[in-house]
Amino acid sequence: MNILVTNDDGILSPGIGVLAEACRTVGAVTVVAPDREQSAQSHALTMTRPLRPVRRPDGSWQVDGTPTDCVLLAVEAPLLPVRPDFVFSGINHGPNMGEDVLYSGTVSAAMEAVVVGIPAVAFSFGGRRDDLIEGYRDLVADLVQKIVALDAMPPNTLLNINLPGIPVDEVQGIRVVRLGSRFFSDSVAKHQDPWGRDVWWIGGGTITWSGEEGTDHTAVRDGYVAITPLRLDLTDHGSLEMVRSWALALEA
Ligand code: MN
Repeated sequence: MNILVTNDDGILSPGIGVLAEACRTVGAVTVVAPDREQSAQSHALTMTRPLRPVRRPDGSWQVDGTPTDCVLLAVEAPLLPVRPDFVFSGINHGPNMGEDVLYSGTVSAAMEAVVVGIPAVAFSFGGRRDDLIEGYRDLVADLVQKIVALDAMPPNTLLNINLPGIPVDEVQGIRVVRLGSRFFSDSVAKHQDPWGRDVWWIGGGTITWSGEEGTDHTAVRDGYVAITPLRLDLTDHGSLEMVRSWALALEA
């Protein structure tokens, strides 16, 4: 089993170290990750300049690009001597639930793996206490082992896994859930630069979740590991017929 591990927090983040250790219990691991923070880069590809991967003394690769760049270079360059059998992304510092998955580089790296035909799982830690992530090594290793052993990942689908932001010995279990939905308020804050000019900083603010049961947010809130299958096909199949019925009017 050859495993590619990547993330969006950068190769020096503690979370990717924990995930790489967990994955080494099932096979040979190569880490290919951004050389710096790339959170919220979504599925961005770097196309306006060349990329210069650097091999680190421990055999991992740091890339001056996005998480998607890392997966693409790992597989197509190829930085890995063999095509990976599985891609694991994370462990992200902070949750990737609901609409977060649209912005997340961690989830997008897993998505890119699925695009090139490799099964993939994204892990995120749903809290702000980074010191708790280390404690999840055995739990994540157990999940990785079981997911690989099942050998049943659906095609064109990735697993998005959110770990609750609590000490690992307080985890209640696992729930398979759909994406939740949340609203941001005051997430664009006005500041001043050193020259007194107005600047705006995106982030922070207040997050309100819709609170529906059966979602990633409620599972993590209740202390469960939340697993959500995400598919690449964004088509809203339920609306196809309705929008087709508009076609006549749109063409007229
Ligand atoms: Mn991140």
